[in-house]
Amino acid sequence: MTFSLRVGISLKVKRRILEMQKNGGKKKKKCKRIGVTIGKYETFHERQSQYYYGVLIRKEYLVSHREEKNEMAAESSSAAVAVSPMTAEELTLTVKWSGKEYTVRVCGDDTVGELKRRICEVTRVLPKRQKLLYPKVGSKLADETLLLSQIPLKSSFKMTMIGTVEDDIIVDQVESPDIIDDFELGQEEAVDIKDKEINKQKLKRRVEQHKIELRNPCREGKKLLVLDIDYTLFDHRSTAENPLELMRPYLHEFLSAAYAEYDIMIWSATSMKWVELKMGQLGVLENPNYKITALLDHMAMITVQSDRYGVFDCKPLGLIWAHFPEFYSPKNTIMFDDLRRNFVMNPQNGLAIKPFRKAHVNRSNDQELMKLTQYLLAIADLDDLSVLDHKNWESFNEDNFKRRRHA
Ligand SMILES: [Mg+2]
Repeated sequence: MTFSLRVGISLKVKRRILEMQKNGGKKKKKCKRIGVTIGKYETFHERQSQYYYGVLIRKEYLVSHREEKNEMAAESSSAAVAVSPMTAEELTLTVKWSGKEYTVRVCGDDTVGELKRRICEVTRVLPKRQKLLYPKVGSKLADETLLLSQIPLKSSFKMTMIGTVEDDIIVDQVESPDIIDDFELGQEEAVDIKDKEINKQKLKRRVEQHKIELRNPCREGKKLLVLDIDYTLFDHRSTAENPLELMRPYLHEFLSAAYAEYDIMIWSATSMKWVELKMGQLGVLENPNYKITALLDHMAMITVQSDRYGVFDCKPLGLIWAHFPEFYSPKNTIMFDDLRRNFVMNPQNGLAIKPFRKAHVNRSNDQELMKLTQYLLAIADLDDLSVLDHKNWESFNEDNFKRRRHA
């Protein structure tokens, strides 16, 4: 049932309501008459029976009465015209933070995590720093995987966010996002997630909302290499006096060689500040031998739903393809990530890299980036990378090596 409560009640009607209230407010005849009067206003819903006229009037009266006493009530009633149930359609929420109000648009099939990302976009408060308060929902907003349709949100109430902007990001090893065990998605499961209409819609919305800023122009005729940071290029859990100690071996050699054939984008599930800081410290952003085309962060990710694994975040390459269709496509893009689920929306384009952990122990023997350089260069001439099964990249390298020896 959709009520339209805020009808801009006239003085005349108000007087009648007061009169009705004086008389006990129960006279059926008066209720009817007043109901008809309100019905003239355009927000009134024609199909509502006369019984509801009475309910409407009483509610309207209660709201306007409370307004005089209670500012909160005034705010909530004036903010909204209709109280609509959450659906897959967009809902506009007002979020109060630090004395200001911000508007965010979400959908019922978004998660709390996504709502926090939208709030982060306008406030710059990182999702992990946000605490959301909302009437009558208990602790539901603390669960980032919960769908917004499962929470009784109404556009009539304002949400309050408590949180602080991190101006000076301090390398915070304890709080930087940890790896939750990757799950091995079967091919069928991955296809199922990628083809789900709800997930496609989410990607579409992200494409509309998220702009990718280019640091360097896309180059004609180049393929695209998309790289994760944590555990792919950098061991973010170990401690060191100098971040270079945590860098995966051969990083600059790898990027320099790849750059000959590929544009390079770096996409991390952390925040842009962290991405810029980390890549800057490692000397990736100002290297004379290669250029980084773009940096992407958690804001570019989407949350997808899977019957088996629930909701989780991933990095949809479709976002990049939609923004630069003249340069990049499923045919010429490859992505390295230590988490396979990150490329669930484009399983044919992902290569699950062996994670680089315990840098102090492993940096003397980790050769992954060297070996992957060979692979990248070996496949660079192919017209369509999506026909490859990147799971077999190591044997592709061996075969390629043998072919060249025999040639
Ligand atoms: Mg990673």
